[in-house]
Amino acid sequence: MKKDRLVILGGGESGVGTAILGKQKGFEVFVSDFGKIKEAYKQVLIQHGIDWEEGGHTEAKLRNANVVMKSPGIPETAPIVKKLLDAKIPVISEMEFAAQFTDATIVGITGSNGKTTTATLTYELLKNDLNVALGGNIGKSFAEQVASEAYDHFVLEISSFQLDGIKTFAPHIAVLTNLSPDHLDRYEYKYEKYIDSKFRITMNQTQDDYFIYDGDDPEIEKWLQNHEIKAKKLPFSLQREVAEGAYLKNNEIIITLHNTKQIMPIASLGLQGQHNVKNAMAASTVAGLLKIRKATIRESLERFQGVEHRLEKVLKINNVMYINDSKATNVNATFYALDSMESPTVWIVGGVDKGNNYEELLPLVNEKVKAIICLGVDNEKIKKAFGNIVDLMVETAGMEEAVKVAYKIAERNDTVLLSPCCASFDLFKNYEDRGRQFKEAVRHL
Ligand code: ADP
Repeated sequence: MKKDRLVILGGGESGVGTAILGKQKGFEVFVSDFGKIKEAYKQVLIQHGIDWEEGGHTEAKLRNANVVMKSPGIPETAPIVKKLLDAKIPVISEMEFAAQFTDATIVGITGSNGKTTTATLTYELLKNDLNVALGGNIGKSFAEQVASEAYDHFVLEISSFQLDGIKTFAPHIAVLTNLSPDHLDRYEYKYEKYIDSKFRITMNQTQDDYFIYDGDDPEIEKWLQNHEIKAKKLPFSLQREVAEGAYLKNNEIIITLHNTKQIMPIASLGLQGQHNVKNAMAASTVAGLLKIRKATIRESLERFQGVEHRLEKVLKINNVMYINDSKATNVNATFYALDSMESPTVWIVGGVDKGNNYEELLPLVNEKVKAIICLGVDNEKIKKAFGNIVDLMVETAGMEEAVKVAYKIAERNDTVLLSPCCASFDLFKNYEDRGRQFKEAVRHL
């Protein structure tokens, strides 16, 4: 019998993972990348005897596909994708492709901010009791892990781009951490389209499945009022009691599921900040649904110190704490970072502005920030937004300089916070590079 042909657009983590799985499942696989494929990935493809090309797409080799897996970084408007869609070839995402080859219980975590933190924390809560893997946008691709081992559970970090390419994918437990405008360039600059895309995570769920979400998020509530979903809804809230789900009362998290209650004081959480209380609520609700023992949940929540570049405590020097929040590339993430500051803050901010509206930060900046250090090629918008409300503003042109200036300004018991609110590619390779340079510079003070 002739093999089905699987064409993969993009030879990165999800593309190569899909290629390995496709090959294992008997497809004739071809990987095509418009740019360059990283050397390490090429070696993997060669080892597995998988055919590939880079630096362009040979249409003749793509048109005979039975199915195409498009990597999340490639927009639907890319000419090659349009052509394949016009030729009525199904174009799907890695999640969609890989899920059909596993019976594992899937926990899918999406949202504008907090995906990585919540997914990692959820994995930590589950890993001692269950045969579980963490994947998706974090670490190894989902597809590769489906190919490599028969896991019973997957915790997946899922972007809206992955969700755009699903048809039948249905996580048993879906989490939506929150919504704020992001990536709008891929959604015709329409926030509603981005929101609809996030909610696709619920689209194939049944009444036996669960949807855990931020019950304080007005956009999520609004969408749910106007749309039906089948899954059982479990909100988490800092502001109100919920019958089932999680809420905060007298500084304790209360999780109610199937008439059982778990109570956890927030003071004992390893992670601090309101947003992390929410992330902890979401992760604990998942763990509760999967019947993890209360003591295990409690211990893991106490132990978990967070993920690199997310409000990561770097060092204390002369009683000044240096915090790396390089992953904060939008206003909402920085809002929560500033909100969690407990001492006067020297704030390092700036980079590539993605259409930010800084207004919602003004009260927090007013209350907490004693000095702003701009770190971007173009700092005009930041200067305009905050120039009148902080006494001291300094422009810098590189990380080392920014950290040195912060060191000079900060006094005992202050905090120096890198939470840029912006993308990084004007001065850095990516947010990881920015965060690492910050840590290096701090260690060299
Ligand atoms: P994502 O994977 O969705 O980008 P991360 O967990 O990597 O999310 O966190 C990205 C940024 O958002 C970090 O600056 C982090 O401190 C902040 N953040 C984490 N959780 C939340 C949340 N629930 N709401 C708002 N911001 C958050």
